[in-house]
Amino acid sequence: MAGVEAYGAKCPCCSKAMVSKHETGVGWLEFDACPSCGFLNWTSHDVRGDGDQTDAGRSKVWEDILHHYHCENLPELRKFLGGDEVDLNEPTKFDYSGYSVEELNAKRVVEPSVILKDLVELSEGSSDPKPPF
Ligand SMILES: [Zn+2]
Repeated sequence: MAGVEAYGAKCPCCSKAMVSKHETGVGWLEFDACPSCGFLNWTSHDVRGDGDQTDAGRSKVWEDILHHYHCENLPELRKFLGGDEVDLNEPTKFDYSGYSVEELNAKRVVEPSVILKDLVELSEGSSDPKPPF
């Protein structure tokens, strides 16, 4: 479960700060995630590349990230991480130089601010599944 998280990589969509997770082991969750625009690119045990990423999967990973930081939505997470008051000098987890604007935009959640609204109700009283961190 060893991993390194950092805030301050530059989002390829909106140029604001992203949180990134770099895994030192093999095959577990790694991501670039932007709490400003909802951009999320990731790999995990069953997601090896762009073709494996779905909107449902993207929402799920966002939920796990928000759980991990004990935040309920993206604006809250952004504030928690430090907002825009950071130097954008962290490396992104993935390389975005070969992507078009359309391809990058496709990696954003449609409505970032409402993520986890429903999940909070769902998980209350249940046996607390642990996010993969
Ligand atoms: Zn962004």
